[in-house]
Amino acid sequence: MTGDREAMNWILFLALALIIARLAAELWLARLNQRHVRARATSVPDDLKVVLDPATYTKAVEYTLAKAKLGQIEDLWNAGLLLALLLSGALPKVLGVWSSAVGHAAWADAVFLLLVAAGITIAGLPLDWHARFRLEERFGFNTTTPATWWLDQVKGFALLWLLGWPLLALILKVVDWIGPGWWLWAWLAMLGFQLAMFLLAPVLILPRFNKFTPLPTGMLRDRMLGLAGRTGFRARDIFVMDGSKRSRHSNAFFTGLGRFRRIVLFDTLVQQLSEPELEAVLAHEIGHFKRKHVLKMLAWSAFTALIGFYVVARLAGQAWFTRSFGFDGGGVTPTLLLAGLLGGTVSFWLSPVLNHWSRRHEYAADRFAAEAMGETGSLIGALRKLNRENLSNPAPHPLYSAFHYSHPTLPERERALKRLGQDAPAAPASARHGPWQINH
Ligand SMILES: [Zn+2]
Repeated sequence: MTGDREAMNWILFLALALIIARLAAELWLARLNQRHVRARATSVPDDLKVVLDPATYTKAVEYTLAKAKLGQIEDLWNAGLLLALLLSGALPKVLGVWSSAVGHAAWADAVFLLLVAAGITIAGLPLDWHARFRLEERFGFNTTTPATWWLDQVKGFALLWLLGWPLLALILKVVDWIGPGWWLWAWLAMLGFQLAMFLLAPVLILPRFNKFTPLPTGMLRDRMLGLAGRTGFRARDIFVMDGSKRSRHSNAFFTGLGRFRRIVLFDTLVQQLSEPELEAVLAHEIGHFKRKHVLKMLAWSAFTALIGFYVVARLAGQAWFTRSFGFDGGGVTPTLLLAGLLGGTVSFWLSPVLNHWSRRHEYAADRFAAEAMGETGSLIGALRKLNRENLSNPAPHPLYSAFHYSHPTLPERERALKRLGQDAPAAPASARHGPWQINH
């Protein structure tokens, strides 16, 4: 029993240490980056002089600093909320009251988990509101109306319950059916669900939030479909999404698999870029697809989910684990809840590795685009415009960027592309191999 009690104290202490360590690291990284950006705020860095005029550069610096300030408030809020939830004993109390009222059925436990998730989301809404209607508004990005924003929240909650509740209830039911080896089956159920979402989201979910119109016939469409044919990418159609309904930020992405696959361009992107630049952006996206980056990312997330389910299953069998947090006895429901709350404090430390991986994918997709286009100018032109239009911070502190940047900065990408242009003449990409994923 003494051993158990020691383990209980130790695990609670570890959880608190993880929360505080992440918060401290986030705040420190943000300070580091702020100082780095401020030190370079007075004049445009040399490698950006051709891209940004002094006024745009100053605006990008201000936007970066404003976002950093709000980011720090969010970090403090999240850590504070987590500490309050774990130390107040509120969660075991609510679960106790809920269970004695409706029993321990899988469906009821799933409702409890979703209620906690919904509560945390609602608590964060004021900050979301501020980000959209104060910060983004101030820099001229916001085009969302309060009505659209509220409707988005309602739709988000509806989806959480419509999709999240059956999945959670099924996973908890699997625990009842299978016993100790449940984690493998629950993982398989989740994989099946994710695959179905991946296939169906473009048809069932995305249209609930945005309008998708096929790119009208004409030069641009011919050019895009020509590129798809040349690179061996089967695309049935190209859609333009009314991204401008919410924001002036621009993007392009693929969704779906197989015959449900579609190429989506934000209307803001179509307005901002020239035809060759749009073609280069599409070539970059096709590069992600062809180089199997999507598959690799999906495989990685499936692998981490498997580890996650296994760890939850092992911990759920140890009554001392959940008791450390005030729950009486073990069980999958409180363990899942704790894993959901604390998972991010562990995965945070992995973000430099994942970002490094993602950046390598970006370079590979840029290379693919340069080969498909037979030149690097269009992609460089597109990247410069996107950087300018989105006021991206082009000179983050290296350590901050290791934790927060999934994409290389503009100067880094330009340098890599120019090196490519010098080393070898670009060859057509038709014979190349090669995912998905968003972005400039
Ligand atoms: Zn990309």
